[in-house]
Amino acid sequence: METYDVAVIGGGPGGYVAAIRAGQLGLKTACIERWPAASGSDVVYGGTCLNVGCIPSKALLESSHRFEEAAEEFAAHGVKVGGVKLDLATMQKRKDKIVGELTGGIRLLLKKNKVEPIAGTARLAKIGPQCEIEIGDRKIAATNVIIATGSVSRPIPAAPVDNKMIVDNIGALAFTEVPKRLCVIGAGVIGLELGSVWRRLGSEVVILEAMPEFLAATDSALAKAALREFTRQGLKISMGCKVDQAQVAGKKVKVSWSDGGKQHSDSFDRLIVAVGRIACTEGLGATEAGLKIDAAGRIEVDEHCRTAHANVYAIGDVVRGPMLAHKAEEEGVMVAELIAGQKPEVEYDCIPWVIYTHPEIAWVGRTEAQLKEAGVAYRAGSFPFIANGRAKGIGDTVGMVKILAEKESDRVVGVHMLGGNASDMIAEAVLAMEFGASAEDIARTCHAHPTLSEAVKEAALAVDGRAIHS
Ligand code: FAD
Ligand code: AMP
Repeated sequence: METYDVAVIGGGPGGYVAAIRAGQLGLKTACIERWPAASGSDVVYGGTCLNVGCIPSKALLESSHRFEEAAEEFAAHGVKVGGVKLDLATMQKRKDKIVGELTGGIRLLLKKNKVEPIAGTARLAKIGPQCEIEIGDRKIAATNVIIATGSVSRPIPAAPVDNKMIVDNIGALAFTEVPKRLCVIGAGVIGLELGSVWRRLGSEVVILEAMPEFLAATDSALAKAALREFTRQGLKISMGCKVDQAQVAGKKVKVSWSDGGKQHSDSFDRLIVAVGRIACTEGLGATEAGLKIDAAGRIEVDEHCRTAHANVYAIGDVVRGPMLAHKAEEEGVMVAELIAGQKPEVEYDCIPWVIYTHPEIAWVGRTEAQLKEAGVAYRAGSFPFIANGRAKGIGDTVGMVKILAEKESDRVVGVHMLGGNASDMIAEAVLAMEFGASAEDIARTCHAHPTLSEAVKEAALAVDGRAIHS
């Protein structure tokens, strides 16, 4: 039986990054993946993120944004491009090409770092000082195991997914025509991003959300402003909705739901189910092997991603914490370095969140509501993009930056952004928080003019009531 220092199960952003780092550290490493390649004869690495998540969704978000801009916004810049037409097949081909290039790139990186790729579903046959893993007929031994099996779309009985008419993220990223009327269940990150793509391309989009409050996890002022803007753009978002049934009838999907005691029923061309994701342990044999699974179906781990067995780790979407690719990657690096005898940590308070709508919503750290609940005295400073020269030039003035700093120490404890380029701008805030910066530190940092990032400096100044441009 072949023996490895490290066997990584799953080749998504958690698993492949863990495997590469382990390889860099000189550990004999294998990475087992089962995602079927389109050709059917092999597997592809990259997991949800590269194949049916972050990357293809951002490709379509960009293309659809450009389509809408060309059709509706270029004229205001004095650029006349009459008769803008959609070529969805080319748009989808471009997306597929990007996915293919990136997943192919992972293969090369694994090779470069001497990680052995193994194709197939891994089952934990034995946990002990030497663990054993079965992949079909093959059995390997490993001194350390890293489980990175990710997540799958959460199913709901009311709307069974067939990935043709009623789809999850996989089907929703692959439509070959624009649905005339599209219903989305769930106004979370995925529902809003996918809803935005298809609205920009011409769908009438109705989003049904169960919770009474829009984006409850985000800063409430930003969530309100975002809801106003998305509604202006044409997304029809209804809160407090309970979907009773979705049924395919010929070429339509009939959806019935209730809100506040009122019953509704409507017919759509497609339905996207985007009600969150659940940990994936299917086929892994985790419980049989002696691992603990929590009430939400996730593998139980400590703050260093260790299970109850010292040499078995689990990372990414299959464990507690936000289901984000960069969180999975950080955990992957941490675990590989722990195995190599180093002492790394993941700073869980400094993980950024981004919703890639337009404008984008990005934040790091705590919200005002969370600070109030924790009894932390704080000062808030915000600055609107309408007062930022670059935002005016771009024509992207919706939104603002808000910085929250502890009252006594001035240490930054939360940064919230709604704006055109918030996904990139949040990096400055993450770095500031990682370094324990004060609002004053940001306020005294020279920011290039004219840039959107000046809004971050101004929000930091506003914490002390001395913003210059508002
Ligand atoms: P995954 O990426 O799910 O990878 C797990 C891998 O393990 C899969 O390839 C699977 O085939 C394999 N596997 C499972 N079981 C076994 C087994 N027994 N044997 C062998 N292989 C196995 N996150 C962001 O940070 N930014 C975004 O913009 C973003 N956009 C998203 C958009 C969509 C539409 C979706 C669905 C998700 C998005 N996410 C985004 C979330 C992100 O994709 C996940 O957080 C990330 O992929 C988690 O990485 P992971 O390695 O834990 O798991
Ligand atoms: P996210 O976790 O960001 O992908 O968001 C999923 C969203 O779906 C959250 O806003 C949930 O409140 C919402 N949701 C979950 N279950 C349902 C349901 N049955 N009907 C409508 N919305 C739901």
